[in-house]
Amino acid sequence: MKGEGTGPGRPPGCREALGLVTDYLDGALPAGRRRRVEGHLARCAGCSVHLEQIRAVIEVLGGLAGGDIPRGTLGGLCAAFLGSGTPAPPEGRQ
Ligand SMILES: [Zn+2]
Repeated sequence: MKGEGTGPGRPPGCREALGLVTDYLDGALPAGRRRRVEGHLARCAGCSVHLEQIRAVIEVLGGLAGGDIPRGTLGGLCAAFLGSGTPAPPEGRQ
């Protein structure tokens, strides 16, 4: 399917939540941001699915690398797999 990652009509906060999800899973977020992410995930089925997918990716990679993955690498991989880190395409501008 095309445009499923960053299309219009997603709730506000999706980008933030997806950007923070690796830190969230890592337990690296301060409590305030953690609550924001949790609150968003509770309301947003799409981001919940992303979270589960990223968690699965982390488990696989963690198993391969002994759990020692640089966070930047992990975030890049998640973005590559899930398209969660890509900027929205410009719309209607030519
Ligand atoms: Zn969302």
